[in-house]
Amino acid sequence: MERNSDVDDAFGSRADDARDPAPAAVSRPASSPRPAKPRVIENHDAYPFAAIVGQDEVKTALMIAAVDPSVGGVLVFGDRGTGKSTAVRGLAALLPERKVIAGCPYACEPGSSSVSTCPHCSLSGTPGKAATARIPVVDLPLGATEDRLVGALDLESALARGEKRFEPGLLAKANGGFLYVDEINLLEDHLVDLLLDVAASGRNVVEREGLSIRHPAKFVLVGSGNPEEGELRPQLLDRFGLCVEVSTPREIKDRVEVIRRRDAFERDREAFAAAWSKDTAKLRRRIVAAKARLAALDVSDAVLEAAARLCLALGTDGLRGELVLVRAARAFAALDGADAVGLGHLRKVAPGVLRHRLRRNPLDDTGSGVRIERAVAEILP
Ligand SMILES: [Zn+2]
Repeated sequence: MERNSDVDDAFGSRADDARDPAPAAVSRPASSPRPAKPRVIENHDAYPFAAIVGQDEVKTALMIAAVDPSVGGVLVFGDRGTGKSTAVRGLAALLPERKVIAGCPYACEPGSSSVSTCPHCSLSGTPGKAATARIPVVDLPLGATEDRLVGALDLESALARGEKRFEPGLLAKANGGFLYVDEINLLEDHLVDLLLDVAASGRNVVEREGLSIRHPAKFVLVGSGNPEEGELRPQLLDRFGLCVEVSTPREIKDRVEVIRRRDAFERDREAFAAAWSKDTAKLRRRIVAAKARLAALDVSDAVLEAAARLCLALGTDGLRGELVLVRAARAFAALDGADAVGLGHLRKVAPGVLRHRLRRNPLDDTGSGVRIERAVAEILP
């Protein structure tokens, strides 16, 4: 299904979010003017991450990825109308700032190895000045062209001045940040292949129209989708470190709170954001502190062994499950402010890490959630 990327709005939500009945989904009043289309999700208009009721697993998974991007991407699965994208869009305002080289369209980090190979920084002679910028959350709209994703020849300067210039795409903007694909299970196959290539190499290579460009493109892939609307290819599923499920709250008091906050947000976004700004800042400090303590956190043999036993009991393929389990548990322990990674941290992250790694057992149609619960209860009592 093709979609016009023009329907993106300032909240990064799409026009059809309007028919999304979810109280938790970001939607824009029909009467407000359509802003110019931004490619980076704007901070101030998104529903504050801190104000999201429940959805602990999604919130934790995104914070884990923010603390340690090497955990891999985050896949958010849920039915239509569960507000899957709200937390992802709220993340943009939560992320800390980073140092970049001013003017570099690929946002090179000063002193990093990418500077010497970056098409901008390596050609400019003197290294650019350092500047601070927010870690970006870039939206890849469904229906986006390959040119928009990877970048293309800048036609305007080619036609007007005869210059062959490269117009960087979304992959350049996402470097060092997050790339978000809503309804990722509907993404066209050739774009999926492209994402897999770039995600694996951390580099975007464009060789066409007489252009030959390579630039750094390291990002955390975040996808959301409805499992009933199409399956994900195993290679893509494997790119995600964590897979979390979202559902509409079942408790009346939670539903009431969702509506109350959503209503307040829609009535006065600025006031709502201001009311939650302290909580937002607190969460941001927690991410910054966790990033700082990550390197010092040891993982004991007991935790490593428990991770291995869990994966063995569930029959996950290869060793990737264990690796992600350990990294996610360490990032979660860092967020927790703990001095060491404990079995409790492992227990907390296990469902998200393992849910999408279980092989189907034709003799046992028990859901993956139940199987993981059983194995966790047995191995991590
Ligand atoms: Zn650069």
